[in-house]
Order: sequence, then structure tokens, then C-alpha cells
Amino acid sequence: MKKKQLEMMLERLEGFSQPSPEREQYSTPATVAAEMLYLAAVRGDIQGCTVCDLGCGTGVLAIGAALMGGNAVGVEIDAGALAAARRNADLLKAPLHLLRADVRTVELRGIDTVIMNPPFGAQKASQGDRAFLCRALQTADVVYSLHNRGSAAFIRSFVKPATLEEMYLITYPLKRCFDFHSKSVKMIEVEFYRIVRGSP
Ligand code: SAH
Repeated sequence: MKKKQLEMMLERLEGFSQPSPEREQYSTPATVAAEMLYLAAVRGDIQGCTVCDLGCGTGVLAIGAALMGGNAVGVEIDAGALAAARRNADLLKAPLHLLRADVRTVELRGIDTVIMNPPFGAQKASQGDRAFLCRALQTADVVYSLHNRGSAAFIRSFVKPATLEEMYLITYPLKRCFDFHSKSVKMIEVEFYRIVRGSP
């Protein structure tokens, strides 16, 4: 499947109906999700792999991974988001395993790749990206994670002894939710990391 085709399919998915600010609920835009999945796919980390999305929300990354030939698993704490993820998977006829669990305590086995857009840590309740990174590195040898621009130095030291092996810049269309006058979108750049466990 071409990237554009994946993007168009993911664009059909529903997002959060009532996003919780405490849980930092935002859906990864289809353009960004498709790019993340393609970057992971060219490294051989999606097709034929068991791929887990930690904090899968309404499922865009997990469903995209399934459409690209991965055995996809989504983990999410919020029941409403999980119900939307199920509807989204059904809409695109994507096989998807969903698990309602807290990323801070869940134990997962047999996962090859984690791909995630974790809470950035702006809200305390979510414990931010650190808990997600810890769990991801306990779960899989290869972790893909999306972060604010300029996070690389922190992430590189936080993930040790795992290594931040690749870093990509992705353009992210950020909806300006607090703008009452328009639904304008601001383009920002975010960083997408490939982190590998167990390298010397
Ligand atoms: N992966 C989705 C959603 C990203 S938003 C996407 O790319 O579109 C982050 C998600 O993490 C939210 O759905 C939120 O409910 C979930 N989340 C936050 N804290 C969590 C926790 N402790 N355990 C599981 N999920 C959590």
C-alpha cells in the first residue's frame, strides 16, 4: 500500500469525542501516523511483526500497523477511546487486539515493536512520556516514539542502556483548539525516534 493510500484510509477514522486534557488525548493526524508507520516499515519493523501501540487512543497507529501487515495490539486506559478504536478497526476491516490497561502496570509478552505517540508530560496525571518509555523498553527490542522538538538529548540519556539510533523530523499539523474564530492549523515540527534496546 502506498503512503498516500494509507493516509487517506486513516483520515476516515473518528477521533476522541470528548478528549480528556489530563490524559493528553489527541489523535495523531493521519499524515503523521502514515509517515511514522512508513519510517518503521522500511526498517522492517512492521510487516510480519507484533506491533504494540501504548496509549492507542482511538487506534490510528495500531490500525495503520495492521493495514501494513503487522499483528497489531493497542493498549489504552480509557474505555471510551477503546470503543472508538474498535469501531475504527471495524470500519477499515483491520484485525486489531485491544487491551484496556494502564501503561504503568501492564505486562506484555511477545511484542517485537512498540510505536507510540505518548503524552508529552504537560499534564501531571499522565506521568508524561517517561512512564511510556519505560514500559516500551520493557516490552520490545525496538521502540518508535514521537516527541516535542528538542527532546533528543533528554531521551538519549533517559533510555540508556538502550540507544536512540535514528531521529526523523516530521511536520505536524497542530489544531489551534483555543482559537475561537477559526479552525486554523499551525504546522510544527516534531521528532520521531527509533530506540533500540540491548545494543552495547
Ligand atoms: N496513540 C493515539 C493516542 C495518543 S494520546 C494516537 O496516536 O492517536 C495518548 C493516549 O494515551 C490517550 O488515549 C490516553 O488516554 C492514553 N493514556 C494516558 N495515560 C495512560 C496510561 N497510564 N495507560 C494507558 N493509556 C494512557
